[in-house]
Amino acid sequence: MNNAVNLTLGDDGILVALMDLPGRPMNVVNDALMEGVAAAVAKLADPAVKGLILSSAKADFCAGGDLDRMSKWTMPEEPFEASMAMKRVLRQMEQQGKPVVAAVNGHALGGGLELALACHARFAIDDTRLKLGQPEVKLGLLPGGGGTVRLSRLVGIQAALQICGEGADMNPAKAHTLGLLAGLAKDRDELMAQARAWIVANPKAKQPWDLPKFKFPGGDSKSPAMAQLWAIAPSIASVKSQGNYPAVQHIMSSIFEGGLLDFDAASMVESRYFAACVMSQASKNIIHTLWYQLNAIKKGASRPAGPGPSKVKKLGILGAGMMGAGIAYVSAKAGIDVVLLDTTQEAADRGKAYSQGLLDKAVKRGRSTADKRDALLAKITPTTDYALLAGCDLLIEAVFEDRATKADVTRRAEAVLGVDAVFASNTSTLPISGLAQASQRPAQFIGLHFFSPVDKMPLVEIIVGDRTDETTLARGFDYVLQIGKTPIVVNDSRGFYTSRVFGTYVMEGITMLKEGVHPRSIEAAGLQAGMPMPPLALQDEVSLSLGLHVADQTKKDLATEGKAYTEHPGMAVVRQLCEIGRVGKKVGKGFYDWGDDGKVLWPELTRHFPVAPTQPPQQELIDRLMFAQANEAARCYEEKVLRSVADANVGSIFGWGFAPFHGGALQFVNAMGAAAFVKRSRELAAKFGPRFEPAAVVVQLAASGGHFAD
Ligand code: NAD
Repeated sequence: MNNAVNLTLGDDGILVALMDLPGRPMNVVNDALMEGVAAAVAKLADPAVKGLILSSAKADFCAGGDLDRMSKWTMPEEPFEASMAMKRVLRQMEQQGKPVVAAVNGHALGGGLELALACHARFAIDDTRLKLGQPEVKLGLLPGGGGTVRLSRLVGIQAALQICGEGADMNPAKAHTLGLLAGLAKDRDELMAQARAWIVANPKAKQPWDLPKFKFPGGDSKSPAMAQLWAIAPSIASVKSQGNYPAVQHIMSSIFEGGLLDFDAASMVESRYFAACVMSQASKNIIHTLWYQLNAIKKGASRPAGPGPSKVKKLGILGAGMMGAGIAYVSAKAGIDVVLLDTTQEAADRGKAYSQGLLDKAVKRGRSTADKRDALLAKITPTTDYALLAGCDLLIEAVFEDRATKADVTRRAEAVLGVDAVFASNTSTLPISGLAQASQRPAQFIGLHFFSPVDKMPLVEIIVGDRTDETTLARGFDYVLQIGKTPIVVNDSRGFYTSRVFGTYVMEGITMLKEGVHPRSIEAAGLQAGMPMPPLALQDEVSLSLGLHVADQTKKDLATEGKAYTEHPGMAVVRQLCEIGRVGKKVGKGFYDWGDDGKVLWPELTRHFPVAPTQPPQQELIDRLMFAQANEAARCYEEKVLRSVADANVGSIFGWGFAPFHGGALQFVNAMGAAAFVKRSRELAAKFGPRFEPAAVVVQLAASGGHFAD
């Protein structure tokens, strides 16, 4: 008796199988579920049973593969066999002679969609929030339950490449247009009625690929129509993946080779590629960080357990500039009432207009409605009057990056805030404990470091000052989750975690320029390393003058504290360019010339920084860019700026785009092994300077054979 799939035989002879995996919020493909499906299929042998409807008793249809099971596999035979076992059930289901229909009542993703694809027809509830798709590629995997094989035979090779290779989900209407669904229903009753009607009308259903005259829609892999596609698809994919994501290549190979083979041979080829993906270091890294560690963070791993859950009802924001306006938008969107304060009513109104702009665009594109827009806008009150801040449970300061201004607004706001309100600063560079000196209640003072553009960037770096208490941290954490962002928690330090490590990437690239590395090679190395933007272009975006300002400020602060300051060798280049007015994108010139049609490397750059006659191997440049970051992250861990490995990894990917296939800045060290990291770091240090000397914590791990772990 299998309790993962409940069976009910109706008077009409139609068997309804409802997937309902016990003890799980969602259905996932695992042995229990597949045994349940197999048991349902076995019942079709009974002459009294006319057909089968496969649906779900949960809110979703089926959310995908069971990652817990996958992460236990150590030998390629295990994923290969598990994938083939699922396929045997599905093949039996589609070849036994009676109709099977998927009634897709909720999300059908990954293995869930593959289950539905093996049914003779699919119907779904026409709800725009319902997602169908093969997102495996995002975890470094490929659909191993027949997804590449059936999709290319159902909707064509090109569409299959898109669905599996990009991993984006589609709503039912889109899936219907593509030919993936036989029909759309307005609710569950209509869905079941459509499924029943299809079974009655098709008593001897067969899959198109099991008919003798089957042809791939749009042509198989060797058809002339596909030849053009296969000539360019791998290059297009390589531009994005730079060869760092084996799943992208494996998906393409599986679809290409599957398009030359019969169904069963294609299925076996797909399972082999599936096993290769499961075994790849890239998928292990991605799943480790972007699944397990991310989920742990979202469940509150970095939140103090003591204080009870909290919710922000009314939020005050000081400064309605770029950041304040963005924070107002994401908070109002989460249902929070926002008071947006600036020095003039015009500035405050401009801050609110930012939300209006975003919402107007959403309405125009059909992603929102005028009513929803107006309701959201009504939540934001732009003002210059501090009295309106009364009753705010959280206040976020986002005024100019200037200590005196921040101190002034802190005092003025605290005069009207209730005694238990939390005060947060969105400073990007000023240590929180110093800013808290202006506060009457430093225990309730915290850093909430947002990233720009606020509505797009998923991370908020929470900074705990010397005197910040646990309740304040918990409330900051709860607020970040409330607005749908991911919090990481770090201790106070110059540049905190993200800005400090991100800076090493950019500065390393700039240092190469000084040494005579060709700027194109530097930029190519950044992309090959898997970073979203190359270092010189990135410094132009951030602005060279800002980099210089932060460096000078740090130098001044350290002198006051009586501490030594060692300037990064790359800073000399930044200074040199700033002196001739090339301060970055905001003035149209930096390392690049920025025009309306895009950017080109400044032609004079190699005159100022002559290219050396012998150029280093590209891998050395890549290593320098990545080791600089990973080593700095390790130092942050050692100095207890970082409080957890999960925060380090997730923060690096979400904060500044650290190459996701490495699984984050500390996972980079783990995957390579601490001993190998130390060895390569010492080689780089001997050649390029002491900044590459491995952090003591990694040297210890290398000696003990350990790795970074929470
Ligand atoms: P901005 O210049 O766009 O906005 C600052 C706003 O504060 C302006 O509208 C200004 O009128 C207002 N303001 C100045 N003094 C004020 C006062 N006394 N009272 C009320 N309002 C006042 O700057 P921004 O980019 O939004 O940055 C704001 C803060 O966020 C800074 O501390 C910055 O370091 C930090 N930050 C910026 C970024 C970024 O990418 N821009 C990222 C993270 C953090």
